[in-house]
Amino acid sequence: MSGLGCNYEASTFGARYPDGTCIDGYMWDLDSGDSDGLTSGGDIPCPWCNTLAHLEWNGETFKGNARQRRRARRALIKKVHAWAESRSSFPPLATQADQPLKGK
Ligand SMILES: [Zn+2]
Repeated sequence: MSGLGCNYEASTFGARYPDGTCIDGYMWDLDSGDSDGLTSGGDIPCPWCNTLAHLEWNGETFKGNARQRRRARRALIKKVHAWAESRSSFPPLATQADQPLKGK
């Protein structure tokens, strides 16, 4: 996945502290691995820079015609972005990910 990856770091794997970090658009467990790198993760799409995949992973489905689905998706992406930004340890980077949030 190119163009993904951000500063997002937050509680992801059940800890009360930020135990997940975004690498190339997927969450990795900061408690895993050693100095050579993280060994556990890569399954959960990052809610900030890989939002659409995160919604799919979360089982979100959108009903209605294409226009209704697009509108529902935009509203949800906005919501997830606000949620992700508020819980991340660092301000997530703006990404080049092609998401229908900009230019709205
Ligand atoms: Zn990310």
